[in-house]
Amino acid sequence: MAHPASFTKTEMFYEGKAKRLFGVKEDASLIYQEFKDSLTALNGIKKSEMSGKGILNRDISSLVFRYLKKHGQSSHWVADIGVNAMVTKKVKIIPLEVVVRNVVAGSLAKKLNQEEGRDLEKAIVDLHFKDDSLSDPFINDDQAVHVLKVATEVEVKKIKSMALEINEKLKTLFLGIGLKLVDFKLEFGKFENGEIVLADEISPDTCRLWDVKTGEKRDKDRFRRDLGDVLENYRIVWNDLNKKYGTGL
Ligand code: UDP
Repeated sequence: MAHPASFTKTEMFYEGKAKRLFGVKEDASLIYQEFKDSLTALNGIKKSEMSGKGILNRDISSLVFRYLKKHGQSSHWVADIGVNAMVTKKVKIIPLEVVVRNVVAGSLAKKLNQEEGRDLEKAIVDLHFKDDSLSDPFINDDQAVHVLKVATEVEVKKIKSMALEINEKLKTLFLGIGLKLVDFKLEFGKFENGEIVLADEISPDTCRLWDVKTGEKRDKDRFRRDLGDVLENYRIVWNDLNKKYGTGL
């Protein structure tokens, strides 16, 4: 493989809410992902631009992927490039949003009229069908396998067990900087040989992270709920992660 620093991007083939995807001229099995400064919530209804968010989320995601790799969980991450991009392996994204919850919060609290903040006795996994036009509806395993046919029964089991393993590693990672991992969303991709791999990003856009001592939220709820200081909190997460883990990864 050519050295990642020499990779050049080809034309953009996809632009999502948080990333722009390009090909890599030197290697057709790779993708060049640029992290955008946009923030969206409520399925894209609430939008904002925050200069520097892309850099922070690339840095945080990359550190998390490198930490997971060191602890035996590989992902699509290959290398960082520039200030706000990473080169990843090309995978076919499985259109499931795999949400792991350690604490009652967000849509779960709302839906079941539960107070936010109660620890669950066991981590749970929710599946959502990744489709903006349907607002990513909550689905069960049977619907994923037999109605949508986005994965087989074995694949859904595998994805859920991978998500729970990743949860254990991420809980330790974030607790190391005084943050409680409340819940988070993962996406998985598939290689041509059928192997399933962790993909997308893991950042304060996709996790709920609460300061263990003060309860302060250091994630996208600051934007969703108009709490202010969004990027200041993302920066605290990055600085603390980098200080604690940066040199060992
Ligand atoms: N999440 C995400 N993208 C989504 C929906 C949820 O990254 O499209 C993350 C969210 O940041 C939180 C977790 O998944 O950490 C659970 O979100 P929830 O279902 O509570 O929905 P929300 O309250 O964010 O609407």
